[in-house]
Amino acid sequence: MSRSGGMDAKVVIVGASAGGVSAAEALRARGHAGPIELIGAEKHAPYDRPPLSKQLLKGELLASDVALRASNHLQDLDVTERFGVGATALDTRTRTVTLADGTQTDYERLIIATGVSARRLPSWNSVGGVYTLRTLDEALAVQAAIRGAKRVVVVGGGFLGTEIAAVALTLGAEVVLAGKASALLESSLGTAIGEQVAGLHISRGIQLITGPSATVHQLQVQDGQVTGVEFRSGEFVQADLVILAIGSEPAVDWLRSSTLSLTDGVDCGSDCSAEEGIYAVGDVARWHNPLFDVSMRIEHRTNATDQAIHVAERILDGDTTAYAPVPYFWSDQFEVKIQAHGYLRGHDEVKIIEGNLDEGRMIAIYRTGRTLTGVVAVGAAKALREWRGHVATKMDWQDAVSLS
Ligand SMILES: Cc1cc2nc3c(=O)[nH]c(=O)nc-3n(C[C@H](O)[C@H](O)[C@H](O)COP(=O)(O)OP(=O)(O)OC[C@H]3O[C@@H](n4cnc5c(N)ncnc54)[C@H](O)[C@@H]3O)c2cc1C
Repeated sequence: MSRSGGMDAKVVIVGASAGGVSAAEALRARGHAGPIELIGAEKHAPYDRPPLSKQLLKGELLASDVALRASNHLQDLDVTERFGVGATALDTRTRTVTLADGTQTDYERLIIATGVSARRLPSWNSVGGVYTLRTLDEALAVQAAIRGAKRVVVVGGGFLGTEIAAVALTLGAEVVLAGKASALLESSLGTAIGEQVAGLHISRGIQLITGPSATVHQLQVQDGQVTGVEFRSGEFVQADLVILAIGSEPAVDWLRSSTLSLTDGVDCGSDCSAEEGIYAVGDVARWHNPLFDVSMRIEHRTNATDQAIHVAERILDGDTTAYAPVPYFWSDQFEVKIQAHGYLRGHDEVKIIEGNLDEGRMIAIYRTGRTLTGVVAVGAAKALREWRGHVATKMDWQDAVSLS
């Protein structure tokens, strides 16, 4: 097989969503002239996921509004689309990807952008009224189900669960939100802010069940349809709709028989390469970010695009420059937009330096070791930008505190 240079190599991209589409665009924008094939398991044209638990669920956007690009955009870029057929195997020796329809395609460079799948509880799969929300089809199904539901139980106190609970309440359902941590969003944002988020949800009328007793023990089912949830504490909650938002798993099953290392996602070096000529981007990629000196895998929308651009550049210049971003994410909780820069996971300290969620303005900074590693803010765009700059320069914590 020819190993032509970056500009002419045949690039196969597996996963046709934010990361995969951005990679194809970035390659073409930077002059890549070789064939690009984009393989996607879903039959839909690429669409954006963040609105699925927000505007689409609320009914403010239609399915057609969440399309990532205009319908002929990828053809215009001379990208070969293969949608509705997933990859089932990778052979790195022969450099081939096998697809679910039995066909194979070879590559000179491979970009893995298969994201994550919603974690499910297999024994609940066949129960009517139990949903997960990761794909457009699932979001449309949840949207229809919420409209007919009287009482919704959302299992999972992370970003997805809290967003879905807020929308379900806004649409008029009674909502019970169950999260295993003592506060909402605790594992991401820490207890102090998690308690403020919990306060926001309670003040709007959501019933919270938090802590270890919020673990679901079993479902009550009648005629194949869920009628309630029994928690480990013994507490029973009636429900005609249960939405599971209990996390996700990297979509790497198709890579299991390959030579790639798959600890939690596709293990990559700091340049996002997994093996020679093979890269991973977006939610599925675990790489070493030298800025924080941490091996990270992050499920943030802007990272999928930024990492795809980085990989496209590495394919074209053959360089091994490290990908060292300051991660960014946002979440909408009712009308409150929470925004964060940095790497907050595993932080040692959170300091709220201004306001609180109730006031619609809040800024908190995060310490890991002796360094400022993150900032979370609500309604404070200018300050957020400034603090992002301090995170990027790895400001000493004491200096950060004296600035606050
Ligand atoms: C409901 C929801 C709300 C979100 N809200 C926010 C938010 O507010 N802020 C934020 O920062 N982030 C948010 N995110 C996260 C953000 O959407 C993701 O970080 C982003 O979509 C990651 O893009 P990706 O391309 O890496 O993966 P995905 O978007 O997961 O795309 C992967 C694609 O690969 C396909 N695929 C999987 N396996 C195969 C296979 N074997 N062969 C071919 N194709 C395959 C999948 O079908 C999918 O289309 C949200 C996510 C969800 C689900």
